[in-house]
Formats: sequence, structure tokens, C-alpha cells
Amino acid sequence: MSGTKCIKLAVQKSGRLYDDSTSLLRQIGISVRNSKNQLRVKASNFPLEIFFLRNSDIPKYVESGVADLGIVGENLIQEQQSAHVEIIERLGFSRCRLSIAVADEAHYKGVEDLHGKKIATSYPTTLRRFLEANGVEASIHTISGSVEIAPSIGLADAVCDLVSSGNTLFVNGLREVETILHSEACVIGRTNPATETKGAIDTLLFRIQTLQRAKNKKYIMLNIEEETVAELINLIPGMKSPTIVPLSKNGWVSVQSVIEEEVFWHIAEKLKQIGARDILLLPIEKILL
Ligand code: AMP
Repeated sequence: MSGTKCIKLAVQKSGRLYDDSTSLLRQIGISVRNSKNQLRVKASNFPLEIFFLRNSDIPKYVESGVADLGIVGENLIQEQQSAHVEIIERLGFSRCRLSIAVADEAHYKGVEDLHGKKIATSYPTTLRRFLEANGVEASIHTISGSVEIAPSIGLADAVCDLVSSGNTLFVNGLREVETILHSEACVIGRTNPATETKGAIDTLLFRIQTLQRAKNKKYIMLNIEEETVAELINLIPGMKSPTIVPLSKNGWVSVQSVIEEEVFWHIAEKLKQIGARDILLLPIEKILL
């Protein structure tokens, strides 16, 4: 890709998104030698420079044009909303939700019970939007971390925080009562990217999409009597035109296709019942359409 302008990608320098972001780059064939304390690194085989930054600063770097792209949690984009930054691709990792939680023993029947309450959060803008949309007047207490202890130390009546497994809420005696938004890691970019960066951005996104398409997909191979193939195709959603190869055993064929792994578990027993044999489910790395 000689002659293509080098683009700049901002990723988290440490924290929940770091491992998956760097692993994503490796999986799309981009070699980056990074020691954890380096803040900028050039890829050796792609016109890409990576900036390792504080998570909450990434949208601002993209907005100002210092970075062309960034990888951040969608929750941050919702909180820092900018007319010049948009989500380009959702990545399916670092899934979480932003939720309101109250003390286990607190009375709670619905959002109206938040009236007049004090809610601690690191996401004041998103919380304010939610409260306004629901006509609730509550006071928002903004803190930058350890939100979950706010009710037990008397700082707030409720919290609004990110929840992944729910364990942090559980161990702090809190009960999740409202989900404000669902979030996952995503690639962000400027709404009007500079023309000279478009080539490299499109190539990078093309590679990411090729990888994303293979996620949760498996290659299925099985043997079945030819007369049962129509029944098999009906059984598997999305299996419109599988590859069908005759076997040396008379009247039998090998059927091959790509399916969602989840679908496989729903139909595994049924496959046996209709007479499918020697069923293989194989991993797929990339899908190029
Ligand atoms: P958990 O105990 O798994 O529900 O995780 C909750 C704790 O991890 C809270 O302190 C959250 O602020 C933080 N957290 C959970 N998911 C994420 C995420 N995707 N990005 C950043 N922080 C998160």
C-alpha cells in the first residue's frame, strides 16, 4: 500500500478494551510491536499509526482530527455526543449496559420512585437524558469512579453505572432496576473524514468487516440420503444453497454450508433424527463475500 496516506487509530492504553482492540488488529493482519508503555507505534505492514490513550480522551482526539479513527465503548460516545464523530462499526466485544441500581432493600416499583432521589454516576449526560425523557426530577451527583459504594456511604440513594456480569452490584448490595443503554466496543470516526485518508480507512474497515462476518459462524459438513436434502434445508434457517457433493455410497450426499453456531445447537438432535450422519462443525476465520 505504498503511497497511501498513513492513518491514525486511537485505542485504549490500558483497561477493558486494550486486549481485544490489539487482538483485533492482529486478526486483520496488522503487525504492531507494542510494549505497554509506548504511547504511539507504527504498524510494520499497513499505513497505520496507533496512539495508546486514555479511554475518555479518545472521542476528543477523533473529533479534533488528531486521530482518524478510535476504538471505544459506545457508552462513551453516547455520553460525549459530538456532531462530528460517528460510530462506523460495532465490534461485538466489551458488551455491557448502563443501568440504574438501588439498594437491595429499597422500595422500587418504577422510574417515578427516582423522584427527588440523589443518583451517583460517571455518566451524567446520559442519565440526565434518561430522567428528562421519563419526566423524573432527581439530582445527579457526578463522580469519576467507585460509583457502587455511593449508597452504602450515604453519598446517594441510587447509582447509574456500567454493568457487565452484575457481580459488582451484587457484592455491594445493589439491585439493577432500569437499563438506560446497551453498549459494546465500536470503531468511531469523523463524520467528514479527510479525502486523503479515505483509502486506508476503507481498507481497514473492509478487513474488520471480513472478520466480523465470520463471528459466531461455523462451517457445517454432514452426510445424508439425497432424498432427505429438502427436509434438511427446511430445518436450517439461512441454508439456502448449500454445496452438495455425491458420495461413493449410492443415494448419499455430503452437504456443506455456513451456519450460526447457535442454530447448530437448536437443531443438532433433529439432524440426527432426519438421518444426517458424520456431522462436522468447523471454525471459520474470515468471510469474504
Ligand atoms: P461487573 O461486576 O462485571 O458487572 O462490572 C461492573 C464494573 O466494571 C463497574 O465498575 C463498571 O464501571 C465496570 N465495567 C463493566 N463493563 C465495562 C465496560 N464495558 N467498560 C468499562 N467499564 C466497565
